[in-house]
Amino acid sequence: MSSLESDPVETICVSDPASGVEVLEPREVPLGGPRALTVRRTLPQRARSLIGAWCFADHYGPDPVSGPGAMDVPPHPHTGLQTVSWLFEGEIEHRDSTGAHALIRPGQVNLMTAGAGIQHSEVSTAATARLHGVQLWVALPDAARGTVPFFEHANPAPVSVGDATLRVFVGALDGGASPVTAFTPLLGAQLDLPAGGAVTLPADPAFEYGLLVDAGSPRLAGVGIPTDHLGYLPPGRTELRVEAGDAPVRAVLLGGAPLGEPIVMWWNFVGRSHDEIAAFRARWQGDVIDGGDPTGPFGRVEGYPGDALPAPALPNVRLQPRD
Ligand code: MN
Repeated sequence: MSSLESDPVETICVSDPASGVEVLEPREVPLGGPRALTVRRTLPQRARSLIGAWCFADHYGPDPVSGPGAMDVPPHPHTGLQTVSWLFEGEIEHRDSTGAHALIRPGQVNLMTAGAGIQHSEVSTAATARLHGVQLWVALPDAARGTVPFFEHANPAPVSVGDATLRVFVGALDGGASPVTAFTPLLGAQLDLPAGGAVTLPADPAFEYGLLVDAGSPRLAGVGIPTDHLGYLPPGRTELRVEAGDAPVRAVLLGGAPLGEPIVMWWNFVGRSHDEIAAFRARWQGDVIDGGDPTGPFGRVEGYPGDALPAPALPNVRLQPRD
């Protein structure tokens, strides 16, 4: 998806010093495009920019939609990141400038490595009555961020651990694994628990973790995480305990080794400096929006019936690195 937010508001962060758990609140953000969604964004926020290399987490729906193109995000660029799409309900058609054309359905992962530059469109299909899922971005480490772009799709098998069902869509955890490419130690998984259920998962002490709650109000390491919130755990743990309350839980578990590199995020670009972001923007506007060079690094998307999204104006202040 595409981010239009250039001036994020401050969000309250509630910490539990005894357990180390931080509870991060979501904020509502309208997406770009003619008929796009409003999402609940938990990353980045002022209190926390990254969890491992995860740098962006949008959670949306269940939103009733009708007709083809109810969600319609026109071609837009990305650099220096991977986009990870994961659905609970609905179906989305993806097209990108590598020539990839793929549908994504619940339980499947689309991972797009933007590297040096890519553009893509995302449109809900006519078969979609409700849209519900998450859109996640991963910041690429400096050594990989200039890579040639590529697209991957996978259908990870669910595994049972304790009372939980895990669907590991990036990395590996307790018998579940995903074949898609990660450039830093990373984990992404859907975690489902029945009402009253619990699970203890092995944790990598080098990882920090986040539990983004879609349904229910689980306890993470003993601390309650309300629906739509993100519970954060710093590195140093050897296990993760998740307990459902009276209602079933559906959540997305994110984890990874801290990236350790300051990044600059603006619109749909991840870079390392204001000047680099300004150059990405100029190239997108010049090559694609003004049509100057269709053979440039952002290429072209075939088959989308409309125009690409122009970039917003850069802010009047210089963009500053996060973390
Ligand atoms: Mn996108």
